[in-house]
Amino acid sequence: MEVTQEVNIGSKISNWYTENGRQNLPWRENVTPYRIWISEIMLQQTQVNTAIDYFNRFMAKYPDLETIKDANEDDIYSLWSGLGYYRRASYIYRAKEAIHANFSGRMPEQYKDIISLPGIGRSTAGAILSIAFNKPYPILDANVKKVISRIFYKNSYEEKSFWELSEQMLDKKNLFKFQQGVMDLGSQLCLPKNPKCLVCPVSKNCLANIKGEYPVLAKKKVQRKKEFLKFNLIRFNEKYFLTKDNTLGYWKNLWIPPVEKNKLKAFDIIHNLSHRELNISFTESSEKHPKLSGKWFSAEEIKKIAVPKPIFDKLVSNE
Ligand code: SF4
Repeated sequence: MEVTQEVNIGSKISNWYTENGRQNLPWRENVTPYRIWISEIMLQQTQVNTAIDYFNRFMAKYPDLETIKDANEDDIYSLWSGLGYYRRASYIYRAKEAIHANFSGRMPEQYKDIISLPGIGRSTAGAILSIAFNKPYPILDANVKKVISRIFYKNSYEEKSFWELSEQMLDKKNLFKFQQGVMDLGSQLCLPKNPKCLVCPVSKNCLANIKGEYPVLAKKKVQRKKEFLKFNLIRFNEKYFLTKDNTLGYWKNLWIPPVEKNKLKAFDIIHNLSHRELNISFTESSEKHPKLSGKWFSAEEIKKIAVPKPIFDKLVSNE
């Protein structure tokens, strides 16, 4: 079955965005390449609603490439506290260093230059180029993949053809609206179960809707290594003792309570890293002079330093 091509899918999506899109998301206002870049990195592993506050705080402190120029890695980490996946903050640090060293402090406009920056893959480069520079480059994030799988009825993900289809759909006259629209359509209408086809602007073009069968792309299976960790929450005078001494092999440069491997294999929570499943338990104590080097932080102070997400949630919500 062929998709009806006489009607342009791209312009239908752009028009739909004008009427129905989430235009008040902060990164959709005062668009600059820098703002699009930071928002795209934040949105890689974070839900839109959570990212909004972090984005606003980030922009209040570093509104542009000039103000972030002299920030060190810890400064950027401190704005990431509680957001998790700190590697993204490290990429931002390294990329802004590269932009100032190699591109005179301006976001480059060529694909080959943007893709050379740490943490920027093809889809993020496509977002910066199309949304901020109005150049016809496709995006292929999870929402766009889902929409493509439905419109073109693809039961499995195939990288090359999905990129081609994403490029084919582009509304080159309205790149900003199209890209925001296709992402909104994926998150608001084209739901995994019970997609809202009745109000979808491309329902007549959509093979899944025509067939009445809605492909769901399989998630990539990740093999995670199980680890059992016991954190010792040392609390004294309303402050917690945290250290950067860490032989875990990850969470480098982050503040954590003293930790040991838990031979009992008990756990309170499970936290997944990209290739590890952490089974975490907590004990509490009130030693005044822990042996490790470290510092004492109140819950308010913890909100401003880089602490892994499960530790952040535990210490800040303990209050
Ligand atoms: S018609 Fe339905 S299945 Fe097709 S893109 Fe729209 S919401 Fe998704």
